[in-house]
Amino acid sequence: MLRLTFLGTSAAQPTIGRNLTGHAVRRERELFLVDCGEGTQRQMIRYGTGFDVAAIFFTHFHADHYLGAIGFLRTLSMQGRVEPMDVYGPKPARKLLDVMLFTGTEKLAFEVRIHELAPGDEVQRDGCRMVSFATDHKITSCGWALVEDDRPGRFHPEKATALGVAPGPHFGELQRGRAVTLADGRRIEADQVVDRARRGRKLVITGDTRPCAATVAAARGADLLVHDSTFGDAEAPRAVETMHATAREAARVAREAGVAKLLLTHLSTRYDRDSGTLLEQARAEFGATEVAHDGLVVELPLPE
Ligand SMILES: [Zn+2]
Ligand SMILES: [Zn+2]
Repeated sequence: MLRLTFLGTSAAQPTIGRNLTGHAVRRERELFLVDCGEGTQRQMIRYGTGFDVAAIFFTHFHADHYLGAIGFLRTLSMQGRVEPMDVYGPKPARKLLDVMLFTGTEKLAFEVRIHELAPGDEVQRDGCRMVSFATDHKITSCGWALVEDDRPGRFHPEKATALGVAPGPHFGELQRGRAVTLADGRRIEADQVVDRARRGRKLVITGDTRPCAATVAAARGADLLVHDSTFGDAEAPRAVETMHATAREAARVAREAGVAKLLLTHLSTRYDRDSGTLLEQARAEFGATEVAHDGLVVELPLPE
């Protein structure tokens, strides 16, 4: 399973219909948050993501992307969480998150491990990597690409049997990609009975950014790109000034990177109720585009 739930899709200020930025990513048994704006924990309850978060990945430390973690960590502590929590982000993650941990009087009941990293650093998780890449915003910022490990190719027991391999430990060795030597001295290579490895899925979330080459590189061939789309064409100068992207610019990034699907998020309040203009402008550049809304759930199927 690889499931993304949008917890907040509004830029800078919340509205009745859109919370501040937050994404819940559930991959198999692990739940991650990418950004955690104010109000995120209530959105998690509303949309049923679960609270068993293993790690939080921040794109940057503008208030609309991280203030929600203060309350969320406290709720977890009250609920008796004991498992440590990993928190990753660019500078000044350590300085800001340290303050966050000691906000209020009571100590958290579990350990929070703060990892400050540079864009380009990778975090290996169970069955996937979270790869950070430099984005282009007003302060130090990064996007996050979830890149699944390759899956082993399909094993064909009938081919193995035909080659004289007996079911048992040799099957296991071949499935793991290792050659085996039979009793009669013949050597059977794994690729004689196992298909080529299948690629995993790739999910890319930019956070706030101008369109940039690093996003194109990170999103190359992605199954889904979630891109800053704060403004429409009419506010293009404002997008430059505030270092955000327009819907059209996001769509050009998606096209250049050859992604399967683009979701626009972080909408200025002026598009809160009517995002049709953004969609139209983006689709003129890249057809497979939708505008995200709070509570939107996207499941990414396994590629063949
Ligand atoms: Zn923002
Ligand atoms: Zn920002």
